[in-house]
Amino acid sequence: MTRLILLEDEPILRHELAGYLTEQGHIVDAVGTVSGFHAAFSPANHLIALVDLGLPDGDGIDLIDALRHQGTRLGIVVISARSRTGDKVRGLVVGADYYLNKPIELEELSAVLTALARRLETGGVSLSWVLDVRRGKLAPPGKAPVPLTAQGVVVLKAIAAGGGKPVDRRQIVNALGADFLQYDQRRLDTQIHQLRKAVFDASGVELPIRTIRNRGYQFLASVELKA
Ligand code: CA
Repeated sequence: MTRLILLEDEPILRHELAGYLTEQGHIVDAVGTVSGFHAAFSPANHLIALVDLGLPDGDGIDLIDALRHQGTRLGIVVISARSRTGDKVRGLVVGADYYLNKPIELEELSAVLTALARRLETGGVSLSWVLDVRRGKLAPPGKAPVPLTAQGVVVLKAIAAGGGKPVDRRQIVNALGADFLQYDQRRLDTQIHQLRKAVFDASGVELPIRTIRNRGYQFLASVELKA
């Protein structure tokens, strides 16, 4: 059983694919827009994303590119009507694992998902970020740990506790032991900026934290906490 996220804007096809995949024993979260994808996607829970390219509020290629830059451990299968070689190459170059043309052959899709899930689950190497709270270090997947400030650890721990879902600024400020109403919000932004810079400078990997304006932050990759 694999938890999938399906992004397809044509309602009939979305319904049909979601129904088929559910029958195959998968858990499917089906969405029709890029913004819907961002709202529903949980890096800690979804193993594979099925992504259409022509979407009402964006291009699936840009989404895949962004997901790969966030360092998420996620299998990505493109499902598209664009069948030119150039489109396929572009899809694979930005980081899709498979590229299936519409009309989708359901048996082929099923075989691709089985192969991909097996590969992802037996990959061996840890694909998670590791936050070592006691030593105050954060290790990007497969990279050496990066030392953080004590405040940086508290902030990251609070964001990681969201399990891939957005965490409100208030929760983070509370974790810092501060009073939200008296807290200068710019200090939190500075804190996040410094974290991003420390991680990128030391590892060359972008810290997978999304800023949600006026609300909070979201850790977009799976993260293991070491107490
Ligand atoms: Ca479409």
